[in-house]
Amino acid sequence: MENTNTRHETKEFQAEVKQLLDIVVNSIYTDREIFLRELVSNAADALEKLRYQQVAEKEVQDSELPLEISIDTNESESTLTITDSGIGMTREEVVENLGTIAHSGSKAFLQHLMEENKADVNLIGQFGLGFYASFMVADKVSVYTRSYQPEAPGCVWTSEGAGSFTVDEVEGLQRGTKVVLQLKDDAAEFAKGDAVKRIIKQYSSFVPFSILVDGEKINTVQAIWTKNKNEVSEEEYTEFYKYIANAHDEPLLKLHLTLDAPLSIQALLFVPQENFERFGFGRMEPGVNVYCRKVLIQEKSPDILPEWMRFLRGVVDSEELPLSISRENMQDSALVSKLRKVITGRVLKFLNETAKKEPEKYKQFWDKFSMFIKEGAASDFTHQKDLVKLLRFESSRAEPDELVSLQDYLDRMQENQDTIYFINGPNREAIESGPYMEAFKNRDLEVLYTKEAVDDYILNNLGEYEGKKLVSADQQDLDLPVEESEGETPLSEEEVNSLCEWVKETLGEKVTEVRQSKRLVDSPAVVLNPSGVTGSIQRMMQVMHKDENNTGPKTLEINARHEIIKNLNELRQKDEQFAKIATEQIFDNALVAAGLILEPRYMVDRIYKIMDRALQ
Ligand code: ADP
Ligand code: MG
Repeated sequence: MENTNTRHETKEFQAEVKQLLDIVVNSIYTDREIFLRELVSNAADALEKLRYQQVAEKEVQDSELPLEISIDTNESESTLTITDSGIGMTREEVVENLGTIAHSGSKAFLQHLMEENKADVNLIGQFGLGFYASFMVADKVSVYTRSYQPEAPGCVWTSEGAGSFTVDEVEGLQRGTKVVLQLKDDAAEFAKGDAVKRIIKQYSSFVPFSILVDGEKINTVQAIWTKNKNEVSEEEYTEFYKYIANAHDEPLLKLHLTLDAPLSIQALLFVPQENFERFGFGRMEPGVNVYCRKVLIQEKSPDILPEWMRFLRGVVDSEELPLSISRENMQDSALVSKLRKVITGRVLKFLNETAKKEPEKYKQFWDKFSMFIKEGAASDFTHQKDLVKLLRFESSRAEPDELVSLQDYLDRMQENQDTIYFINGPNREAIESGPYMEAFKNRDLEVLYTKEAVDDYILNNLGEYEGKKLVSADQQDLDLPVEESEGETPLSEEEVNSLCEWVKETLGEKVTEVRQSKRLVDSPAVVLNPSGVTGSIQRMMQVMHKDENNTGPKTLEINARHEIIKNLNELRQKDEQFAKIATEQIFDNALVAAGLILEPRYMVDRIYKIMDRALQ
């Protein structure tokens, strides 16, 4: 029947596929049975795509075939066969799909696999490489396939997992795909019906198509997102998550949503246990499928949720979506944007509630997924208000590992305080030992610590929260309450004014203004930024422009009570030349304390001069 003939071709795998196969074929696995989950998931995907074509009333090959997956074992020949009546592949598609890796995320994953076990082969399906898992158990894999498109001829793809594969045309195939595995000697167990049934029950009970193992139907088809919450057990949710996300663990968070108004929506959304994007696995792809009355409309939809929500996995089902909506039309459909808005709002509400009711859970979420919330807060103005509520910071008032929200700050701020202060720095120690915190410590004002530049960017752009200004603590025009300063008596006003003038002359263009500080306690001097420019923005610009001499416009404030400043004032009377050297060093020290990078050469020379003097 399957009569192999014309157009025989041997082709080399793309280099990346060769590398991947090399790892898959030669490693020892504990969980290699996952290959079956991957092949069944491909079969189910192909069936979903076929169903979509049928619903859209496209003409398909062999339209009377039932949509199901058959798995057949043959112990004596040591083979395992997985057959689906799905969408199939044309010859060109087989070559493309089973011979190349196109997606950058998959390539990044491969890179990690090659760099000694940093990545787990178990994740292969999550990175769009699931098919190749079959070479964990088989030393030869044949894929017989025929596309749903009428007239498309059938073909067979065969490989032994080494450098190449062959493709031949085959006559007499039905629509769909049949994967035949010639099992390795040490994988003979997978030719046993009982073993295969156990694995399918474990991994694939939520596949929304019948699965027959040696003729016996073993799964109950269910779309659990359409059920009532109280009809679904935790185990079922977890199993479904594993199915939909190609995952092997439990989800971190789960949201099962049933709405009638303003739109009818059933959704089941999960936050995974881990965020691979933060380990440099490349940009995550969206992971939510869109259904209409249980029919898959769009897989991994880029349209149904905003881009910053790409970490979510799950399904959204809405009966309001016209089945005929094409994937292209999803993008600019008004209905889809309405759905997006409603669902996004509900997810944000859910996260907010989790933060209140399960702070520990929320902390886990924040530790791993905060980058997405920040991305949203910086770019999604429709939901910015709710996103900002989800932000967390370290704070001068909290323990090092405690997280503080803007609302926490608000709830305990001083009575007449109209400003929320924040300061950016690489870590807590650097921030607390820097000169900017002195004034706030003294006045008992809380300061939020923002460790990433994007935090500063968000808060700076936001400008205010619940009517309170948001201000970076390194700004020059801070309006701090006046404080009776203690300690040393300062220089007289006259002395200070004349010293400031002299320092300005000495530093020239490097500073826009020199003035007496009202905020310093322990440091001799501090540099401040014009309003709207924070230290982190300045540092970013330095890196971007690779310009270490450009530290941006700065105001220098000097502490008139500080020994060094008082001595400087005396020195400039006696030895102006050396006083100038000291002044430049005081300014550079203040820049360093602000976290700015300086060209070290001049500074080193200068420090030698100063040491020379001190050692005499
Ligand atoms: P993924 O499923 O994540 O795309 P895989 O490595 O599992 O990655 O499969 C690669 C591609 O091969 C699929 O995207 C699909 O286009 C094609 N494919 C695999 N199995 C089948 C099948 N049974 N029917 C149709 N196409 C398939
Ligand atoms: Mg797959």
